[in-house]
Amino acid sequence: MPAGLIVKALSGYYYVLSEEDEQMTSIQCRARGIFKKRGVSPLVGDKVLFELTENGEGTVDEILPRTSELVRPPVANVELVVLVFAVTEPTLNLQLLDKFLVHTESAGLETIICLTKQDLVTEDKESEATVPSKGDMLSSGVSHIVQLYESIGYRTVVTSAKCGVGIAPVLDQLAGRISVFAGQSGVGKSSLLNAMVPGLQLETNQISMKLGRGKHTTRHVELIRLSNGGLVADTPGFSQLDFLQIDEAEQLSSCFREFKPHSAECKFRGCLHLHEPGCKVIEAKEKGEISLSRYEHYLQFLTDIKERKRRY
Ligand code: GDP
Ligand code: ZN
Repeated sequence: MPAGLIVKALSGYYYVLSEEDEQMTSIQCRARGIFKKRGVSPLVGDKVLFELTENGEGTVDEILPRTSELVRPPVANVELVVLVFAVTEPTLNLQLLDKFLVHTESAGLETIICLTKQDLVTEDKESEATVPSKGDMLSSGVSHIVQLYESIGYRTVVTSAKCGVGIAPVLDQLAGRISVFAGQSGVGKSSLLNAMVPGLQLETNQISMKLGRGKHTTRHVELIRLSNGGLVADTPGFSQLDFLQIDEAEQLSSCFREFKPHSAECKFRGCLHLHEPGCKVIEAKEKGEISLSRYEHYLQFLTDIKERKRRY
């Protein structure tokens, strides 16, 4: 039985790319009734076994084990999340970035950070008296952020879809696996994908989406094929609205990668790194080994978790 990959799901049909097909044309398949009985449905991104029927269509017979399963967008076997943030317009929100990172860490997904709209960054000119207008980011500010997240272990790429900057490094990361882009609306996700895929014309600047009545809601998910074998969901991943609910305060700390070597040395087991004596995380923060912004966001999320618990 041939094996393949579901690249699109629409109106009860699954479009399967056969592993053996050089032409890369997808085969329109129905799912076997057994799936419905078992309460499982095939997902875009699923590796499947299928059978060809006489009319040139096919039947999905078996779903191979999944490595991951995202709810939004509904895609199986996602390996990489690209967190997209604009350096400005909208103003870079590091708290939201750290929130997304907690989300991807707890889901066990590899993450890269993409800082878009580099062309809008103001060059530092010490001699110049003009102060950058509000919301403007100086290029030194951007490199500082890149350094911070790289030091934690997140590959961080600065891009400009407008000027064709940083497109190839992002493409390289996507090679040979399934990815999802995530980030606020307006940060340039569609523009970035368009810059990576010749001929792709995703609509940009979809204001209607912000109003919650865009085509987004009715849209199907489809994987966009890249020339390097990568596959990217054509619709963005989770937003701040469906931020994963972490219930255990202790679990939060493990989502801050750079805390780990220190928290293992804290005096008390289950240390929340608030003001416990012998806390090595606080010590590292005071020595500057853990960034103040990351530590502060950790505290804010911890408060959120505690308040949520109190409400139940
Ligand atoms: P999305 O909502 O995240 O998919 O964002 P879009 O790709 O639709 O882009 C939102 C707006 O930002 C559009 O008006 C784009 O033209 C603009 N934009 C996207 N990328 C860049 C960039 O690299 N530089 C500049 N200056 N504007 C950009
Ligand atoms: Zn501690």
